[in-house]
Formats: sequence, structure tokens, C-alpha cells
Amino acid sequence: MPRIAYVNGRYVPHGKAAVHIEDRGYQFADGVYEVTCIHRGEFVDGDGHMTRLTRSLKELQIAWPISPRALDIVMRELVRRNRVSDGIIYLQITRGVASRDHAFPDASKSSLVLTTKHVPPFDIKSARKGIHVVTTPDIRWKRCDIKSVSLLPNILGKQVAKVAGAYEAWMVDDAGRVTEGTSTNAWIVTAKKELITHQVDRAILNGITRIAVLRLAAEEGIKFVERTFTVAEARRAREAFLTSTTSFVKPVVRLDGKPIANGRAGPLTRKLMDYYADYIERPANKGAA
Ligand code: PMP
Repeated sequence: MPRIAYVNGRYVPHGKAAVHIEDRGYQFADGVYEVTCIHRGEFVDGDGHMTRLTRSLKELQIAWPISPRALDIVMRELVRRNRVSDGIIYLQITRGVASRDHAFPDASKSSLVLTTKHVPPFDIKSARKGIHVVTTPDIRWKRCDIKSVSLLPNILGKQVAKVAGAYEAWMVDDAGRVTEGTSTNAWIVTAKKELITHQVDRAILNGITRIAVLRLAAEEGIKFVERTFTVAEARRAREAFLTSTTSFVKPVVRLDGKPIANGRAGPLTRKLMDYYADYIERPANKGAA
């Protein structure tokens, strides 16, 4: 079965899918994206992703290429055509095609590209083994709250992790504070058993998985604090983990080559992994994208 992509109104074979060379996404990274998990053929937290997309577009003054309702129909149709039961849908909207000039074009129609990918569902058993993280300076711009396709610092950071044999790099600001991972949000549990993740501001992307995990913690009566934490605190942490749409909840067992606590997934992390695995099965979290 050929893989199908959606490009500006057309369903096309993945290998033939293309945009114009003067698309502003290609020339300026002038666009936004979303990655939504598909679980048993349904979108996980579809509403959350749509809310964040709406915000990203508004912040960058990029017009909707089609209405949100039409987008929902197209997304479902693409999932159907590709017969994706478990995987992801990638959505990208750019300011469209225009003769190259930095300022916004007077008239351009936003470009919309969608692709899907088959990805195995959350494998909690193998995830419990944990992953390694290294730290790298956060060299990004001051609007990391916008889910922009401009990802050069994130790419460079992920490469640092790959070369070091780690899964992720946690980015560290000039004051020694961990902002987030290159494609994930960062969490620790302190010696006082405090669950901590960076507060929502312009230094991080407010992950949809982050929001879900905070909601689950609240539901389960687990206290949390949204504040910055330093690399030094992370090294001394009892537990650490990361979250994202594609990584779900993964324990961090080594930071810069040194074990976190005993180098095993901690009890609170394991609990939150279980809660999140249940959460993605909840009918209320699947559906409208
Ligand atoms: N931070 C960054 C920089 C990211 O790219 C991502 C993944 N898009 C996340 C956090 C996690 O967000 P989400 O849970 O919505 O996937």
C-alpha cells in the first residue's frame, strides 16, 4: 500500500509530495507544526494540539490554510488512507509561497502539509529501563513557546546527544537552569519528593504530554511545582524523566554519564508512566483533532 501525504488540497504518494522552492517554510523556516499521537486509530489529546496550533499561528500572524473543521476532516482522511492504527500525524503550516523577501508577503496562501507514520504504541516495559541524557547550552531564541519549524538549535542539541550515545539533550540557560529537552519536556523529583517541571513561559514549549502528566498528578493527589531547576539539582535528584508525544513518559537514569540516584526508574516516575499509559486509552482523550 503506498504511503500518502496531503499537500495543499491533494492526497499524493509520499515520494512525490513536494512544495514550491519559494515556500517560506523552506526559505525562512516561517511556519509551525504539530505532532499528534494516533492510538488505536484515534488522535490522543487532539483538542490540546489544536489549541496549541491556533496559538502558534496567532503569535506568528499566519492565516489558517483551511478552516479547523476542514483540517479535522483532512487529518482523519489521511489516517484512514494510510491505515494508521498506532503512529503519528505530522502537520506543518507555513506562510506560503512568495518571492523571497523577509517581510510578510502582501498576498500569500498558507501552505498545509500532512504526513503520517506508523510507530509502535507506548511500550511501558521497555521504557522502564530508562534513557540517558546529556546537557547542552540552550542557544535558542526567546519565543520557545511557539511551535516553530525553526529547529536548528534543537537539531544541534539532539546531535550532541546522539554522538554521546544518549537519547536526549537537556538544554541549559546561562544561569545553569534546565529549560527542556530538544524535543521533550524535562522533569525531576527532588530529595524532598517534590515533582518539578519548568513553568509555562517563553523559555519552553508547553508540551501536550506535559499538560496531561500535570493533570494526572493533580488527579492522583501528587504535589508538583512548576519552577525552574538547575543542572546541579537534577544531578542530586531522586528521579528524573522526560515527556513528549512520541516519547510518552521516559525515566532518565543517567545525566552527563552519571547515574541519577541508583540509576533506575524511580517509583513516582513508574507511577506516572502507568497513569499515562491508562490515560491514552481513555475515550475522552481520543477523538477530535
Ligand atoms: N519541547 C520541545 C522543544 C518539543 O519540540 C516538544 C515536542 N514537540 C516538546 C517539548 C514536547 O511536547 P509534546 O508533549 O506536545 O509532544
